[in-house]
Amino acid sequence: MTAGNSTRLNGGLPQFSTLAAFDHAPRTRLIFGVDSLQKLGHLAAQLPEQAIFLVTDPGIVAAGHAQRATEILQAQGLKVTVFDRAEENPTTRCIEDCLALARTTKVDAFVALGGGSAMDTAKGCNFLLTNGGRIQDYWGTGKAKKPMLPLIAIPTTAGTGSECQSAALIMDEHTHQKMACLDPKAAPRISILDPKLTLSQPRMVTACTGIDAIAHVVETAVTKRRNALSLMYSHEGFKLTLPNLPRIFANPADLEARGRMQLGAAFAGMAIENSMLGAAHSAANPLTSHYGIVHGQAVGMMLPHVVRFNSSDPDAMKAYAELASAPEIACVSDGHEEALNALIAHLESLLDLAGFPRSLAECGVETKKIPELADEAAKQWTANFNPRKVARDDFVKLYEAGFQPRASGSTLSPT
Ligand SMILES: [Zn+2]
Repeated sequence: MTAGNSTRLNGGLPQFSTLAAFDHAPRTRLIFGVDSLQKLGHLAAQLPEQAIFLVTDPGIVAAGHAQRATEILQAQGLKVTVFDRAEENPTTRCIEDCLALARTTKVDAFVALGGGSAMDTAKGCNFLLTNGGRIQDYWGTGKAKKPMLPLIAIPTTAGTGSECQSAALIMDEHTHQKMACLDPKAAPRISILDPKLTLSQPRMVTACTGIDAIAHVVETAVTKRRNALSLMYSHEGFKLTLPNLPRIFANPADLEARGRMQLGAAFAGMAIENSMLGAAHSAANPLTSHYGIVHGQAVGMMLPHVVRFNSSDPDAMKAYAELASAPEIACVSDGHEEALNALIAHLESLLDLAGFPRSLAECGVETKKIPELADEAAKQWTANFNPRKVARDDFVKLYEAGFQPRASGSTLSPT
């Protein structure tokens, strides 16, 4: 995640270059395949110690996945303790609850089974169990001084990308500030991607996590920190996710589409690890903390407006055009503006297919709150990586645009 993303070419004019420096150490062994959950016991048994702390949530317990994972681990002679109260957008209190249970038993390794919330909870608990203190102490990058325990991540959604990331996102229960705690030691040692586990998602979870994954692809493809490696993941992630989310909406049992979507979401996570995110995530977080709008829905609603906003930057416009060319919804040679419009039209179309509300008013957001939301959005860490400088007043305009059902200037109808 090194800086140095622009070079001075063309007589001193700043210009983005995919030759931007990066420092990428693959930290996570990625295992993909139908029924790969069966490998969990064997993989966990290879870890140095034998007491597993499994972090999951009530929905995953109800789906039977937690029981299956526990049985697979126990069949290898491993001792398993289960924390099954991971919450959506986990708070500092949720992490403390998890820690309280972890402290009652021997813990040699974590297994996180679920969506982003289970993985964030496991990572957050790992920070505190191994390094002490409060979650706030780890807000930022590389704050853990002591080693952390191994984590095996098993996503049951296709969206967060947390299975490929060293960040834990935890919300302060008092201030509602979402804290990004980044540390290479927090990255999963192993991630198991078993598409069958994503079949149990309710439609709205598929929609929210799927749109979030696509937002990750779109934002990582244009950030200031994008580089040759992150672009590879962004573009491949877009090829995998864009055509397959509609296939899943049409047939939720389509295991091949589920697998491609899951892989695309993981690739988007790898892209985030290398290039960070942008203004759609900055604008979404205050909507979630003030109005409880689900993350994927909040990001999805803001994304087309952010794409339109960023496109006034020629480098970002070109990057969007190249992204749109990856799944062949446009061709760069037809012109950047045309490619951008095709990209926005496809995003709008996906949001319609997802069945999301299409304006902030429909979600209960009040226009009088825009100044406060904009203040908070401008302070989000992801705003720093947006390709176009985005200040508080820009967020005011972006939220105002969010009250319109379509991103302004879009000339194409959704296909
Ligand atoms: Zn996201």
